[in-house]
Amino acid sequence: MNNKPRPYILSETNWKTVKENTYTVAMLPWGATEAHNYHLPYATDTIQAIYVASESARLAWETKAKPIVLPAIPFGVNTGQMDIPLCINMNPSTQYAVLKDIVQVLDSHNIDKLLIVNSHGGNNFKQMIRELSLEYPDVFICTINWWQAVNVSIYFDEPGDHAGELETSAMQFITPDWVLPLKDAGNGKAKQFKLKGLKEGWVSSQRKWTSVTKDTGVGNPQFATKEKGELFLKEVTKSIGEFIVELHHADLNNLYE
Ligand SMILES: [Zn+2]
Repeated sequence: MNNKPRPYILSETNWKTVKENTYTVAMLPWGATEAHNYHLPYATDTIQAIYVASESARLAWETKAKPIVLPAIPFGVNTGQMDIPLCINMNPSTQYAVLKDIVQVLDSHNIDKLLIVNSHGGNNFKQMIRELSLEYPDVFICTINWWQAVNVSIYFDEPGDHAGELETSAMQFITPDWVLPLKDAGNGKAKQFKLKGLKEGWVSSQRKWTSVTKDTGVGNPQFATKEKGELFLKEVTKSIGEFIVELHHADLNNLYE
């Protein structure tokens, strides 16, 4: 852990540094507060979003790009998990209001590029970006589900959806002390919809989480290792770091070829 304030992390830096830098790309880590099987912390998604955004920003900063990582939003859409104690739901309409206020600030401070680093499958910013583009046409907003930045099948036998091998490996690397031994974890076995279209994924709806899984996990964490997490996160942050550099240099009036 670096003890000096990193100039690309807003929470750590100061006005002196902010005045000296012309930041071009704001990055907004967005997580969730929810149970992750028995063995991972409630803030798993938020911790991952902060790690991925910060490390990607560091790589971009080293090439003289100017990203600034904003403080993370810790609450996600968890409407299907209201019966799990202390899963904190933030409705999409509330998320839109939060996002809009942040974009208003960026717009008035002439930071016209924003990347939302999303960490939670229940969050979906695509439609919000469309709506905001009418009100703030000068701010280019894009979003990434960080775990989709590289091909996961190279790194994991069975990545899983929620608290499975992928997320457990990532947390074993980022915050090893906050991951319980895997003997304490459930098997993450999940039921599927009975209806064919939903089962095959060409019809979508939300799942009632406690009807789908007993331990709140979806995906088996047993084959997770810190090494898999490290390797995967290295490639993910490299890929996102390169995107930040591209975005930093991009001319918003000339985005297409
Ligand atoms: Zn998660």
